[in-house]
Amino acid sequence: MAFVITQSCCADASCVSVCPVNCIHPTPDEPDFGTTDTLYVDPAVCIDCGACADACPVKAIVPADILRGDARRFIDINAQFYDTPRDETAWTAPSFTHSMDTDGEPLRIAIVGSGPAASYTARHLLTTTTCDVAIFERLPIPGGLLREGVAPDHGSTKAMASAFRWVYAHPRTSTYFNVEVGKDISLAELRQRFHAVIYGVGARGANTVGFVGEADPAVVHAGDVVGWYNGRPSEPGVAPFAMPLDRERVVVIGNGNVALDVARTLLAPVESLANTDMPAGVVEQLRHSKVREVVVLGRRAPKFAAFTRPELLMLPETARCDVVIEDRPGIREEIAELTEVRHQVLASLPVVPIDLTSPPAPGKRIVLGFDTTIAQVVQGQVSLRRTQDAAAGDGMPPQEFAIGAATVVLANGFRVLPQPGLPYDEVTHRIPQQDGRVIDPSTGTPIPGVYLVGWTKRGAVGGLGKNRLDSESTINAVLEDANAGLLKKPTMGWLAFRRLINGRTDVVTARRALHVLDREEKAGRKVGRPREKFVSTDELLAASRLLPRRDRTPIG
Ligand SMILES: Cc1cc2nc3c(=O)[nH]c(=O)nc-3n(C[C@H](O)[C@H](O)[C@H](O)COP(=O)(O)OP(=O)(O)OC[C@H]3O[C@@H](n4cnc5c(N)ncnc54)[C@H](O)[C@@H]3O)c2cc1C
Ligand code: SF4
Ligand code: SF4
Repeated sequence: MAFVITQSCCADASCVSVCPVNCIHPTPDEPDFGTTDTLYVDPAVCIDCGACADACPVKAIVPADILRGDARRFIDINAQFYDTPRDETAWTAPSFTHSMDTDGEPLRIAIVGSGPAASYTARHLLTTTTCDVAIFERLPIPGGLLREGVAPDHGSTKAMASAFRWVYAHPRTSTYFNVEVGKDISLAELRQRFHAVIYGVGARGANTVGFVGEADPAVVHAGDVVGWYNGRPSEPGVAPFAMPLDRERVVVIGNGNVALDVARTLLAPVESLANTDMPAGVVEQLRHSKVREVVVLGRRAPKFAAFTRPELLMLPETARCDVVIEDRPGIREEIAELTEVRHQVLASLPVVPIDLTSPPAPGKRIVLGFDTTIAQVVQGQVSLRRTQDAAAGDGMPPQEFAIGAATVVLANGFRVLPQPGLPYDEVTHRIPQQDGRVIDPSTGTPIPGVYLVGWTKRGAVGGLGKNRLDSESTINAVLEDANAGLLKKPTMGWLAFRRLINGRTDVVTARRALHVLDREEKAGRKVGRPREKFVSTDELLAASRLLPRRDRTPIG
């Protein structure tokens, strides 16, 4: 029986090149690459060699016969992709895009951030060039959203973090964790030491919606919620975020995968979370949670829903509660007419009448609602607004209705934050760039030596895998510029740089950070969990045997 690609696939295409019979598609050079949620194995061609399973960083590929329950639907999903004949019998010519003139000293590249995008970038540079790499991370621990964003019950996805450990420990890598670029060291200073600086700082800003009462304590941002259930280290001097769990109903605004993560995590049986890497304190809070219903609202019709097929498909099984669609006139017909493959899962969910103006029905459930948004929140009392009437343009006023006390989670996306020393577009909330090169808006030309990868480059869209090919394209730009002689030769020596940075903050090296990760894993093993996380910056620094000696000395 063939191998099958399952839920956690992040479409990074690592498996494609190892398949000896070219039976995993779409490949990055095929036109439909990037249009599907995952890649698919052709069961008629697969020879069961297992090479792809070894190559997959998120353990998404398994032999079909070990799948159980709803996960068995991935067998058909993989096969269905090949129902329409594809012209893919031939391999394309190999391409070696990373090439650099070998004369002179190796390039020194600074990478800002240590999330998936930065880590993929470092990995490509180490494996395909002779560059030296320096990774700067504001937290004392690497990983970005892999550690503090991906939901705790997505253990196989989080396993990707271990695929990057060798990158941090590589002899050509230097690591500067607990160093915030723009605060502890400036871009101008980095440019004195490095030929190029690549920013992969993610998109950590909260998008706003603009309703009355957005600042009410009952309204929280999904970024804080996922940080809370993932044990994101609290900033020194800032009280850790605590999710309000005292109301029976939570309304999530937005219907992408982050909204589903939040809904599932709030309602899943505590026992199923207790053996994840969710901090033990959060598990205890959830044990006493009053939340029984999570209403996930999309402002528009079902055809605009943003979740991916694998996540929605597995939701009833992973959340272990009812998942229903709120009934309204015409919704069944709309769902029946959906053509996009990823939306067809909606047709398998029950459509039921929901009275949001009354307390939630007994039991636990996730309600998917459409054409509805938040109207206002006043002292914890929430009103919603139907957008359907306005969209229909029939002159009817939008229908607003109160649903009483609820917690509102804004899962309406993230924005790139401004970075000191870089241009920033206040309207789009993006750093202007082209092919990964930062663009000076006053001239419309690239600023030599400064580049972007990952969510900082693309905005907050795309899963983990998207960052792999994206980082390769930025590396191409760096190497092109190096070959064209556009990168300035750095002037600062290693010793001067070390002195500069050590004078500013307590640098955590990879060796110390990996030691902390090992300690977390060891503590976790004792209690049957993947890891027991340290959840504050001070704890992490102490665990890396670096007690904070003093306050930071900011730039200047
Ligand atoms: C809640 C959530 C769940 C997700 N779940 C999945 C999933 O299950 N599967 C999937 O495929 N994708 C998932 N994604 C998407 C995935 O996480 C992103 O594609 C990916 O993390 C983007 O990587 P990045 O490196 O650009 O950003 P990030 O992961 O955010 O990394 C940025 C890093 O830069 C650091 N940094 C920021 N500013 C500075 C500075 N000034 N100096 C030094 N360091 C700095 C940050 O601390 C962080 O470590 C999820 C996203 C979110 C928000
Ligand atoms: S098991 Fe082997 S033949 Fe089958 S998809 Fe994976 S790599 Fe290809
Ligand atoms: S995550 Fe990458 S390696 Fe794993 S199945 Fe998906 S595309 Fe293949």
